[in-house]
Amino acid sequence: MPFSTNRMLQSKLFTKTRKEAPADEQSKNAELLIRGGFIHKEMAGVYSYLPLGLRVLKNIEEIVREEMTAIGGQELLMPALQDKVLWERTDRWDDEKVDNWFKTKFKSGGDTGLGITHEEPLTQVMSEYVQSYKDLPFSVYQFQTKFRNEMRAKSGIMRGREFLMKDLYSFSRDENEHIEFYEKVKQAYKNIFSRIGIGHLTYLTFASGGIFSKFSHEFQTLSSSGEDTIYLHEKEGIAINKEVFTPDVKKDLGISDDFTEYRAIEVGNIFTLGTRFSEALGLSYKDEKDGSAPVFMGSYGIGVSRLMGTIVEVLSDDKGIIWPEEVAPFRVHLLSLGAKNDVTEKARELYDALVEKGIDVLFDDREDIGAGEKFADADLLGIPYRVVVSERSLKDGGYEVKKRTEEKGEVLSLEKIFEMFR
Ligand code: ATP
Ligand code: MG
Repeated sequence: MPFSTNRMLQSKLFTKTRKEAPADEQSKNAELLIRGGFIHKEMAGVYSYLPLGLRVLKNIEEIVREEMTAIGGQELLMPALQDKVLWERTDRWDDEKVDNWFKTKFKSGGDTGLGITHEEPLTQVMSEYVQSYKDLPFSVYQFQTKFRNEMRAKSGIMRGREFLMKDLYSFSRDENEHIEFYEKVKQAYKNIFSRIGIGHLTYLTFASGGIFSKFSHEFQTLSSSGEDTIYLHEKEGIAINKEVFTPDVKKDLGISDDFTEYRAIEVGNIFTLGTRFSEALGLSYKDEKDGSAPVFMGSYGIGVSRLMGTIVEVLSDDKGIIWPEEVAPFRVHLLSLGAKNDVTEKARELYDALVEKGIDVLFDDREDIGAGEKFADADLLGIPYRVVVSERSLKDGGYEVKKRTEEKGEVLSLEKIFEMFR
């Protein structure tokens, strides 16, 4: 867990749950996340991450980081401010070519833009470090705020004008070496989506490629709220984006014509860049025979904040959010019901004991709030386990434990609870 603190008192938490979402929010993710106090809307497409929301975002980030490290990715962090000159060299500065830049000027003169992605500056960096074939292959990645002047920002945190992306870039000697790594990333992405709880809804999807490969690949999560249309081949477990869904493509993939149309959310995207950027920006290496060759590149994105919105879209119910355990802001939501001294005391004891064991707990210790409201808040916040301390539970010999995904709970002793959360 990326947090140094694994406890929180709800009475001290500055955010409060709300009955209503802002009237201008149309998406389910924004509605539930704002009502739960996970995020705050600043403007269309621009959100703050409040304490509970930041914990979720960081948990997702940590899972992505683990999987990127596992395939050898080296983490770095690049600036948002971009040098216009580099982007002119790849023909991606002009508004005619790229229409979603936020551009501005330096007081001292000259133009800059807020990074939409980072191929250009990173290729430039690597041209100072890569010399020989011995320096290749490798890959680097970052978690960085991207800025995009999106025309429509109506899908809550799924389409931000400012959003958190994980972008990985690979540098290989040639296409074969590139493909080997590309396949590893595919697998790492599958691991990520299953670990964060949306693997069963997420499909590798063929999308349009570029000069260097016929296809790129997207990872699309089925959801009626998605902006994309895909054609899913259920038996093969792969899909094709509507943008490239032609008889030719179907033939290329060599599978039967048995597709179903779905709406889906693009949660990730992997792309063969080839030598487009290395040639334009002078990133080359000396090969074994003393010749020179351009570096063969790939780029691999995941919308970290979009993933958080996606989880809410696809896993919530009519009472609120359902966080999968690996990304939940806390593992246990402890509720003390009634202001009786022995209840309060027992709840506090349990809180300390759980924290002591290293279990993340949000403790609803609020004294002026009734049981109904506490239950409703717990459902809205979506923490995986609800543990209730009440006069009744104590009379029954312990604490009532209920999973967010289940209707009924059971009263367990302290020992049993510790066993459960071991
Ligand atoms: P889209 O087709 O949704 O506009 P894109 O193809 O432009 O996205 P990339 O440039 O490949 O996306 O970015 C990598 C990932 O970042 C995407 O797969 C998506 O998950 C996420 N992403 C892209 N744009 C946004 C945005 N405006 N807000 C939040 N996440 C985004
Ligand atoms: Mg796309």
